[in-house]
Amino acid sequence: MAERGDIVVLGGGPAGLAAALAAARDGATVTLVESADHVGGLCRTLTEDGCRFDLGGHIPFIHDAARVAWAEHLMDSPMRWIDRPVARVHHGRVVPGRYIDQIPEALSDLVADDGTAAGELGSHIGAGFRDHVVRPYMEKVDGWRLEVISADRSRKLRDEQQAPEGFWYPAGGIGALMDAMADGIARHGGEVRLSTPVTALTHEDGRVTGVQVGGARPGTLTAPTVICAINPIAVVDAASPPAPDGLLVPITMRAVTLVYLTADREQLTDEAWIQVADRRVPFSRIAEFRHWDPGLVPDGRTVLCAEIYGEATNDDPWWPLDDEALAHAVRESLVDPLGWTDDASDFRMLKVIRMPRAYPLVEAHRVDEVTRTPRWLMSLKGIELARGGTVMTAIAAGEAAAAGVAARTA
Ligand SMILES: Cc1cc2nc3c(=O)[nH]c(=O)nc-3n(C[C@H](O)[C@H](O)[C@H](O)COP(=O)(O)OP(=O)(O)OC[C@H]3O[C@@H](n4cnc5c(N)ncnc54)[C@H](O)[C@@H]3O)c2cc1C
Repeated sequence: MAERGDIVVLGGGPAGLAAALAAARDGATVTLVESADHVGGLCRTLTEDGCRFDLGGHIPFIHDAARVAWAEHLMDSPMRWIDRPVARVHHGRVVPGRYIDQIPEALSDLVADDGTAAGELGSHIGAGFRDHVVRPYMEKVDGWRLEVISADRSRKLRDEQQAPEGFWYPAGGIGALMDAMADGIARHGGEVRLSTPVTALTHEDGRVTGVQVGGARPGTLTAPTVICAINPIAVVDAASPPAPDGLLVPITMRAVTLVYLTADREQLTDEAWIQVADRRVPFSRIAEFRHWDPGLVPDGRTVLCAEIYGEATNDDPWWPLDDEALAHAVRESLVDPLGWTDDASDFRMLKVIRMPRAYPLVEAHRVDEVTRTPRWLMSLKGIELARGGTVMTAIAAGEAAAAGVAARTA
């Protein structure tokens, strides 16, 4: 069946939800299609055994009062101010501040920004300090030498993901903000269609002509504009007729495994989120959700999420382990080498979530090659791209895509 509207939005993560909300508020007829049976994408809050927790620590990194007001108005509830910056382990102690935010007292041995993360960081904090403080952590997370990773990665980490004094957080978890956006779309007459995967993007003479979807109501959606808030590679792969040869180049995807532990005790640490560079510890970050919102966890309980970064292959030290073995390794490391507790035997496994393709990594020398795919998509008339590497940049990208459509059709 063919259906017509003003705008079709692909994907119901923060970018797609923000795009659909902004367009619906503007009076457009909007249909958002999402393959999962829920909205939020990677920004979800789950429930297990009476505890609520996010899909990995999810700080929204809001940097202005207007955005706080936007979120509070949308959710009809105040945001929580968490008075603790992200912490890190330094010489065996937990201290405030991320590795990447540390600045040496005197800047020395600055190097040229050569387009790699090594150059970008070295041009800001000097090569020695970079190698001593930031390199062990970033290389543990990304698994590549800083000399290989593109400068974009470290620049974005420094610019977009700062929360040096603490951070704003939605009461009830990051998913509460996503649900509020979905409710807002419906209130403004838009439609959020769940369990509806995009199966093809049709185009003719350089213009998008429709979106084919599967699910319970398969068919073709046509609209003057499509906002793409899913991975552009998947959309280019689904182009009909097919996109030109050579556009679909391989991209390295990093795996993340989330190991949730719980114990009948008030807390393990005083911190919301701690980064750990020590390679003997399986995880690179650990979140303790009671410190994000005490309402997430029943009284007398605590829930931890250990984020283990790696490759989804048998060569990885952690990926091949089964859930129990992973939970055991995380539990052991809380005692030794971290020394955060004398005895972690009361921590039990709550859940393990494996994301084999959690985020892309791009080599500095391949940036131009891999951006050819989204560039081709953007060259089609009638399509806007909305992508962001963080919750708030994704939301801003969604809003910008909707504003672009409104400006063109005014
Ligand atoms: C472990 C982890 C921790 C993170 N921590 C933070 C943090 O602290 N702060 C922060 O700002 N960011 C964080 N991020 C990043 C953040 O989650 C993402 O930047 C953000 O979710 C991107 O939003 P998006 O809408 O672009 O994409 P996504 O959230 O990936 O949403 C895309 C949506 O499109 C849907 N979709 C995909 N294919 C199709 C299809 N064919 N048809 C229909 N629908 C489809 C998906 O189901 C999904 O719902 C973290 C990410 C991870 C993995």
